[in-house]
Amino acid sequence: MGISGAEIQRQNNKKKSAQPPSKQPPKKPFKQRYKEAAAANQPVCVNCGYQGKPKLYTKGSIFIEIIAWLMFLLPGVIYSLWRHASRYKGCPQCSAQNMVPSSSPVGRKLLNG
Ligand SMILES: [Zn+2]
Repeated sequence: MGISGAEIQRQNNKKKSAQPPSKQPPKKPFKQRYKEAAAANQPVCVNCGYQGKPKLYTKGSIFIEIIAWLMFLLPGVIYSLWRHASRYKGCPQCSAQNMVPSSSPVGRKLLNG
C-alpha cells in the first residue's frame, strides 16, 4: 500500500492542467504556396517557392568600382558597364535568377504538376 487514492487524484489533476495545445499553423506545402501566388498573381521562385517581388541584384562591388575609377579611368568605365549589364531580378530569399510570373506557362506547370 504505497500511494493512496488521494495521491493518485492529485497526480491526475497535475497532468490535466498542463499547458494548452499550441495553435501553430501547419507549414504550407510547396504546392499550396504556388497556388496562393497564382491567386495573387505574384512572381514565384522556381528554386525555393518564394513568392513576391523580385529583388534587383548587381554583380561585383561598389568599392571595387570606386577604386577602379580612382586609379584607372578606363577600367572604371568598363567595370561600371559590366556591373550594370549583369544586373538581374532574382529571388530575395535564395537569389536564384529563375523567378517566373505565376501566370506564365512555367508557373502554371508547377501549379498543376
Ligand atoms: Zn528562391
